[in-house]
Amino acid sequence: MKIKEFGNDGEERSSNRIKVLEFDDSSAISRAEKPSVIVPPERSAGVKESVSTQNEFTPIYQVRQKAEEIFLLDLGWLAGDIGWFLPGAAGCALTFSNRNPPRRWVEIPVSAVLVKHPGGNILFDAGISPNAMETHDKGLVEAFPIVNMSSENEIANQLNKCGLQAKDIDFIVISHLHLDHIGQLGVFRDFGPPIIVQKRELESALYLLWQNKGGAYDFADLGALRGANWAPIDDRQFELLDGVVIEWTGGHTAGHQVMHVNTQSGQHYTFTGDYLHIPEEYELEAKGWLLSDAEEWHAYIRKLKLMQKARRSHLVMGHDPNLWNKYPAAPGSLR
Ligand SMILES: [Zn+2]
Repeated sequence: MKIKEFGNDGEERSSNRIKVLEFDDSSAISRAEKPSVIVPPERSAGVKESVSTQNEFTPIYQVRQKAEEIFLLDLGWLAGDIGWFLPGAAGCALTFSNRNPPRRWVEIPVSAVLVKHPGGNILFDAGISPNAMETHDKGLVEAFPIVNMSSENEIANQLNKCGLQAKDIDFIVISHLHLDHIGQLGVFRDFGPPIIVQKRELESALYLLWQNKGGAYDFADLGALRGANWAPIDDRQFELLDGVVIEWTGGHTAGHQVMHVNTQSGQHYTFTGDYLHIPEEYELEAKGWLLSDAEEWHAYIRKLKLMQKARRSHLVMGHDPNLWNKYPAAPGSLR
């Protein structure tokens, strides 16, 4: 372990301002074992003087810096009926004056997010199993078939593009437990990073599966993850690392959560998971058959719009059909 020193602007300094611990191993547990620099849990902007009081308490945040770089991982393509995403208001329900509305079959990307942060590497979501067409519920993969996926779309190969391996992931955040968000989590099983999920998401997924009402949850995924290093949270908001906030939204599933990331370059990103599949949901303030709780969903859409206006945040929807026209895929990055 060595100690580096940084100023509020992120430049390395020789003077004492904010001290940042840098560990040689990637274990989150050992990060907490030997704190030698104490930083109180205020935001770094408010820290004026050196605060290196030794060993008085275990620091909540040892790293007082924002995310450095964000990579979007290309994990293949699914397809499905537009009605899953947009309701009748978008033109796919029969009405008195239009009893033969057009149907649309849309292809959507499957993606995940890698955040490189001085406090650790965070993976948000983990795609669909490459074998899902053979191993998963027939009705489910008929509704959402994999239409494009190669070995390049396997998560280990995507991480390699970012200079990382599965063992380098320190934290996994899962928006929700549907098949296209946890299908490649098994890759990380041997390395044991905590899998941060809402407690009520785990409860709801298992409750529904136990009644054969799993919808887009599948035993093939969750059965394989029994006993994994789950880290269930029941906070509405949880700041995992400085500037990385996980927030419960509900709406799409009972325990759905999104992730907000502030970067060192001052940008703010919100990764929406399936709270928003495609941009029209945001524009129309409506969601199709994949809406599970309308009150929750509508309560959050206005909050999200407020946050986007106030922070000029980038809303990144992992299933946006135009995702790869808007953002670079790894090894390209966002800062
Ligand atoms: Zn979903």
